[in-house]
Amino acid sequence: MTVRTRIAPSPTGDPHVGTAYVALFNLCFARQHGGQFILRIEDTDQARSTPESEQDILNALRWLGLEWDEGPDVGGPHGPYRQSERKADYRQYALDLVDKGHAFYCFRTPEELDAIREERRAAGLNTGIKGDLELPADEVQQRLAAGEPHVIRMKVPNDGVCVIDDMLRGRIEIDWAQVDCQILLKSDGMPTYHLANVVDDHLMGITHVLRGEEWINSAPKHQLLYEYFGWDMPVLCHLPLLRNPDRSKLSKRKNPTSINFYERMGFLPEAVINYLGRMGWSMPDEREKFSVSDMIEHFDIQRVSLGGPIFDIEKLRWLNGLWLREDLSDDEFVSRLRDWWFNEQDLAALIPHIKGRAEVFSDVAPMAAFMFAGMLPLTPEQFAHNKLDEAQVKRVLQFALWRLEAQRHWSKETIFADVKALAKAMGLKMGEFMFPVFVAIAGTPNSWSVMDSMAALGPDMTRSRLRHALEVLGGFSKKETRRVEKEFAALALD
Ligand code: GLU
Repeated sequence: MTVRTRIAPSPTGDPHVGTAYVALFNLCFARQHGGQFILRIEDTDQARSTPESEQDILNALRWLGLEWDEGPDVGGPHGPYRQSERKADYRQYALDLVDKGHAFYCFRTPEELDAIREERRAAGLNTGIKGDLELPADEVQQRLAAGEPHVIRMKVPNDGVCVIDDMLRGRIEIDWAQVDCQILLKSDGMPTYHLANVVDDHLMGITHVLRGEEWINSAPKHQLLYEYFGWDMPVLCHLPLLRNPDRSKLSKRKNPTSINFYERMGFLPEAVINYLGRMGWSMPDEREKFSVSDMIEHFDIQRVSLGGPIFDIEKLRWLNGLWLREDLSDDEFVSRLRDWWFNEQDLAALIPHIKGRAEVFSDVAPMAAFMFAGMLPLTPEQFAHNKLDEAQVKRVLQFALWRLEAQRHWSKETIFADVKALAKAMGLKMGEFMFPVFVAIAGTPNSWSVMDSMAALGPDMTRSRLRHALEVLGGFSKKETRRVEKEFAALALD
């Protein structure tokens, strides 16, 4: 048997370090067994998936030095590798399951389902969506003929225990009572993740699924689907989730999670991938610094430890320093630094602003320095303003942070719309609102377009600087945070 593993990212946002971590372990496992590693794009959620995000994910994984044998950009014998291009096939698989009696049409609206759940809760029953929602065959035919909107759901047992065998965790037991009759085909005809994932893993000959532990609860549904289809199931292996230093699940609300951020900060890809290799795994000789090929050579999945690995940016900086000092000759240092400085495509957008202000090239460096910096050396005094008191300054920064956290389409225009809406809702003039934002982002209120800067710095760097500015100003106590959250929720934002 040839080992075949895959990474299956959904292109719905910035390339996440967690995706690279799981990709790395899949790559090492496949290579160690002389197998293949596949990249598949899971873009069945058409409202959230974008081609830009897909491209960003591919670029970021490549930047880290990860290579795949088959994928949307390199092709391969099991393509297409983008689920949106395979959508015609999934429907047939769902219909087959209906024919075999393993799935059923469901016409319930979300409101009806809520009401059913509510009734069950009141009666002290399990609130899961179960097969008892199935209608008599003649009613189903009538409603289908009338063109009523519907989904297809898989049947799941009402009770008993599902046993999953996990390569790392051994036997995992999950009560069937907790598992809903999962939707397989949505009312728009698109498959859900569960159906498309199982069908594609099978059709692409995937033998081992290494993925994050957040998918454990999906495993019973997947196992049952393999059984219903009569297919062999890949071996499952749920990797421990990356965590913030406070042990909560790694999230962009607390830490930069985008690979783009680490690139912009000037980390070396070798160091980032090395650090990801140390998430829950270690070399047999415990050495801290190693390359992907070292890791492949010594890889052993059983050495993964399940205690949640902590992704600590300070530790990563330290490791990056080792790589900088020990692995780059002076010449290489110069050329890598030059690439990092001048390869910023986004910088092109800034040139018009710089050109308008500079007289000689030597003016440019101080003007543009903040674009190349990490966290700026700010002081509370820099935020003093004759119209805004400190409480307002902190609110501006916090509200901007929260608003931008929710921004899914990062561009100068969307950022502008966000800050404009906030300023209006807070009853501030645009200039007043933007003052603390300028200081947080550029270190001075007199910089050129901070909208362009934020667009070019990217969401993670922008958020990190806003967070940093808030810290410099002392942040909010727990009690204050609750109040400020309420104020934010009450803002009349367009
Ligand atoms: N598309 C899923 C994700 O975004 C893939 C999960 C899996 O590996 O099964 O992570």
